Amino acid sequence: MSKGPTASSHRRYLSDMLDWAQQVNSLFFKIPMSKILLFYKYVAIQYPEQVRKWQLKLCQDLNLKGRIIIAHEGMNGTVGGDLQTTQAYIEAMRAHPLFSDVDFKEADGGSENFPRLRVVVKNEIVNLGIDPNITAQNGGKHLTPEQTHQLLQESPQDLVILDGRNWYESKIGTFKNAVTPNTKNFRDLPAYIDENVEQFKDKQVLMFCTGGIRCERASAYLKSKGVAKEIYQIEGGIHRYAEKYPDGFFRGKNYVFDSRIASRINDDILAHCTFCQQPCDDFTNCLNASCNIQFIVCSGCLATHGSMCNPECKKAVEEKTVPIRTKPARFTQHEKR
Ligand SMILES: [Zn+2]
Ligand SMILES: [Zn+2]
Repeated sequence: MSKGPTASSHRRYLSDMLDWAQQVNSLFFKIPMSKILLFYKYVAIQYPEQVRKWQLKLCQDLNLKGRIIIAHEGMNGTVGGDLQTTQAYIEAMRAHPLFSDVDFKEADGGSENFPRLRVVVKNEIVNLGIDPNITAQNGGKHLTPEQTHQLLQESPQDLVILDGRNWYESKIGTFKNAVTPNTKNFRDLPAYIDENVEQFKDKQVLMFCTGGIRCERASAYLKSKGVAKEIYQIEGGIHRYAEKYPDGFFRGKNYVFDSRIASRINDDILAHCTFCQQPCDDFTNCLNASCNIQFIVCSGCLATHGSMCNPECKKAVEEKTVPIRTKPARFTQHEKR
């Protein structure tokens, strides 16, 4: 005679069901348990050191990792943590009179995308090295993602689309028909503007960068030249535009400054493998630590050539005549959002 279900077998059944549900969740729905917050605010901060202490304690208490820069001109941060603690961070910021209206952008990831927590005071929240009197208050007109999209659809004759980012960022993703200065550092952009000032004469200039912060003062710098007819900047940068129009005028990947390296916006691949020239937009950096250059390489060539950018670096690494990069390779493939 068979026995009916006992209390213990019933419990086991329930626990198996729970395990199964969790597996289904992680396998099929991939519900994130953590996130990355990105934000900046240009606002006069009288005592940056006090703000630094408050931010350091806040982030430590919440176990957040990432990087926060505070200056007299404002604050700029990228932090990762779990869902509750990032929410607690947003609430703490909202409660502060200077930061109550900060626009928080969110990205997939978490504290694991950052090696540590860094909270520092600097002269500028973004290192541009221009006259401190050229402030974000004098920057270009902010366009919402919708207004940006409309302007790009209308595509007036006198429109110049200016990518304010560095070469390795625009190489793997940019707006259609954008001018890409191919600068190595953001600090080089003012010199580019000086040398190419004629290009902006009597034009409408639409500037953009990853999250909008770099354009705030760079657009003010361009404006100070007094040549452009009108200067715009995209509110929230590529990040907000691509959220609204993933298949819009921005093509490829959005380069980001944490271990994710880039987030794919759409399936266009703008760059090519350094070795075989096939379409590819995955970066790695050279295993020769004294070179450490970022270069694009496909998975096939990475397997055959190794993570060295050219034959000289390959030879040097193999003969051990140079220091070898010890940090893990930044070669990562990224899923479409
Ligand atoms: Zn290749
Ligand atoms: Zn190299």
